[in-house]
Amino acid sequence: MARRTFNLQIQLAQNRGGSVMDIPHPALLRYSEPQALIAQFEEAWGTKPEAVVLPVAAADGLMFKVEGLSEPISPYATGFSAGLRDFQDVVYTFAKAGFDIYLLIIPTLQFVGTDALHLIDIVGDGSAQLCVSNPRSQDVIAAVLGTGVDLTIETTKNTPGKLKGVVMDIVDLWPMGGHNKRLELTCFCPSCEKYIEEHKPGLIRQFKTFPNPWNLLLQVTATGISHIDEIHLNSTTSDIVGLSRQKGFDEVFEDRTMPFLLDQAEILLDYIEVRHNQTIAAVTAIFEQALQGLDSVPRRIILTEGSYYDWTAGIQLERLDRPLSQEPLPYDEIWFDPSSTELVMKYVPFRSYMWKRARYYIDAFFDLVANATDPVKRATIGIARMKIPEMRGLLKSRLSQAIGTAMTGYTSLASLPDIKSDSSNSARIGFVGVALTREIGDKLIEGLNIPPGLADITSAPQSDNPLEALMRLIASREEEE
Ligand SMILES: [Zn+2]
Repeated sequence: MARRTFNLQIQLAQNRGGSVMDIPHPALLRYSEPQALIAQFEEAWGTKPEAVVLPVAAADGLMFKVEGLSEPISPYATGFSAGLRDFQDVVYTFAKAGFDIYLLIIPTLQFVGTDALHLIDIVGDGSAQLCVSNPRSQDVIAAVLGTGVDLTIETTKNTPGKLKGVVMDIVDLWPMGGHNKRLELTCFCPSCEKYIEEHKPGLIRQFKTFPNPWNLLLQVTATGISHIDEIHLNSTTSDIVGLSRQKGFDEVFEDRTMPFLLDQAEILLDYIEVRHNQTIAAVTAIFEQALQGLDSVPRRIILTEGSYYDWTAGIQLERLDRPLSQEPLPYDEIWFDPSSTELVMKYVPFRSYMWKRARYYIDAFFDLVANATDPVKRATIGIARMKIPEMRGLLKSRLSQAIGTAMTGYTSLASLPDIKSDSSNSARIGFVGVALTREIGDKLIEGLNIPPGLADITSAPQSDNPLEALMRLIASREEEE
C-alpha cells in the first residue's frame, strides 16, 4: 500500500508561504559560510529561503562607508568566511545564487556619537541611541539605509536575485528603565516634546509626576519592568483599570477611587495613540527619504514584536491593519511574532517572524556583544563592574536567553495563521526564519576581545577612593532590563 498523506502534510505544504532567512548580525557570516546558512535553514524549515535579510549596520558600526558620516565601520564589516571581503561581496554572493535581498536597519544606531540626537528619558538623562523622531536623526538613518539600497541595486544589476525590500526593526525604539519604583520611559527630547505637545497639548505634563498614568500598566521590579500589553484598539478606560487592578499595579496610587483611575486611564490611552502616530510618522519620513527617486521602490517593511501594544516599539499592532484601498499606507508589509497574540492582519500583508518577541532578545544579545568589546563602555556603564570571565558568563547567559526563545521545527509552520487567499481572513504571505544558532553564538563569544573593565583594574572595593566611588555611581545608574 502506498503511503498516505495526512492533514498535517497538506497543511504544511499549503500554509508555509514565502520563506525569508534573517541574518541578524554580520558575525554570522564570519563564523559560517553562506551555503552553510542556507543548508541549515533548509534543514530547520523544510524549504530553502527565497530571500535573505542583511543588516546595513551592527550595534558597533556601519557595514559600509556613508558619504558625510564620520561614524565608525563595524569590525564585523570585513573578514567574512569564504573569502568575502565586504558588504557588496556578501550581497553579490547571495544574489548570484538566486536569493533576493532585504536590507534591515535598527534605526537607533547606537554608535552615532552626537548627543543632540540621542534619546532622553522623562527625568532628562540622555542615552546613546538615536531618537527617530528628531528630523536630524532621520537624515542620518535615511542616509545609511539609502546608501545600502544604492549599493545593493548596483551590485545586483546582473544577478537573478534583486533588492526586494527594506526592513525597519522597531522593537526597541523607546526603551524603558526604572529606579525606586519610578519609571523612566524614553523619549522626551525637545523634538518628541514638540510633537506630543502639538498633537495633544498638556499631555506630557501629566507624566512628569509620580505616580502617573503609566503606573496603571507598568511596574518597576528588581529585574526590570513588569508590563501589561493587552491594550486592544477597542480597549476602554474601564478595561485598563480592570487590567491594572487584576495585577495590583493600581496599589501605587494614593487615590484609588474609580473616577480618578478612569481619568488616569484616559490620559494613558491618549499617550498610546499619540506615541503610535509619532512612531509611524518617523518611520514614514525615514522610508520616504531613503527611497526617494528610485525607479522601482522596494517593499517597505516594519518589524515588531507582535503584542497588542508594544511599549518599546511605541505601536499598537491593530492600528497598522488598514484597508489598502482607502489611503496610501507608508508601509507594505509587517513582520511579527505570531505566537504572542491571536492577532492576524486582514488587509496588510504580513509574515510570521519565527522567534518569540521577534528581534527583541536577539538584538539585546548583539547590543551586549558591542558593549562588552567597547573599552569606554567597559569603564563607564554597568558592565564596568564585571571582570572578564563574568562578562563572558553574562554573554553566554544572554545567548541562552535568545536561543531559548527561538521557535524551531517546521511543524510549527503548519499552525501559523492561514496564507492569504480568497477564502481566508488572513493576509499572511509567508514566514521569516533566523540564521542565529547556539554554535555560531558560542564561536562569536569565544572570538571576542573583551577589554578589562573597572573591576579588573581596581581590586577590592575601596569606599575612600572618590574616583572609584564616582565610577560606581555612574555604573549604578545604568539599567539593564
Ligand atoms: Zn525624542
